[in-house]
Amino acid sequence: MDHSTTRRALLVGATGSLAAGLLAACTPGADAPRGSATPTATTAPTPSPTPTPTTAPTPSPTPTRPALTKVPVPHGTVTGLPAGTPGIAWTVDDGASSEVVEAYARFAAETGTRLTFFVNGVRPSWTEHADLLRPLVDSGQVQLGNHTWDHPALTKLGDQAIQDELMRNHEFLERTFGVDARPYFRPPYGYHDARVDRAAAAVGYTTPTLWYGSLADSGDISSDQIVGFAEQWFQPAHVVIGHANFPGTIGALPRLHALLEQRGLATFTLDDVFTR
Ligand SMILES: [Zn+2]
Repeated sequence: MDHSTTRRALLVGATGSLAAGLLAACTPGADAPRGSATPTATTAPTPSPTPTPTTAPTPSPTPTRPALTKVPVPHGTVTGLPAGTPGIAWTVDDGASSEVVEAYARFAAETGTRLTFFVNGVRPSWTEHADLLRPLVDSGQVQLGNHTWDHPALTKLGDQAIQDELMRNHEFLERTFGVDARPYFRPPYGYHDARVDRAAAAVGYTTPTLWYGSLADSGDISSDQIVGFAEQWFQPAHVVIGHANFPGTIGALPRLHALLEQRGLATFTLDDVFTR
């Protein structure tokens, strides 16, 4: 598949009602996925993915990862991965619970699961577990994106305040983990518009990163409920949003991993899929 074909197949743009039905998040109870439409990324005919049994049987923390041909990061909003991507981008937001951030970090280290965290630097969890996260970040298994410093609705802020929110968090990520999160930012609650996008782009955050499918765990729900949402949304090429906020998530993690294995889905960070 050439790049232009791939790019046409990308789920880009969040202007339709489809995307609008999926935006609310990070508010307890507000981000249960709505809409039953099937994202185009999963319906396009896809070349058979080529799982690469690259190395000999590897120790368990390094699961086999299909080789991908990276495509340029799309201009505009990302809500999914290129059609045919044989796995998901599992993204995790906020970090209101230090215990859940720790559980995610240990889970990643134990299973090799590739994750993208959208961090709010105001949450102490990221600093408290920086030593645990840093090797995963350094190896590229875990990517860090910008979810603003303290989670405001950016559509209600002026341009300067939007940029301050992003850059305060940007500097936190740079200082704490030595990474540059650009161009990926996730607007809190999924709230953004053309003005927000312009203000963010002016400081290098050119890619609002939304999702197509939610574990709905920004609020306090049970592990069983979370697994139920995963059964619905863990599908090829989906960007799925989860949260490190409430303990129900901790019990769900091994079951989510088992679900991925059962479905033959790999996990990819955004950097695994897109060139910056
Ligand atoms: Zn959030």
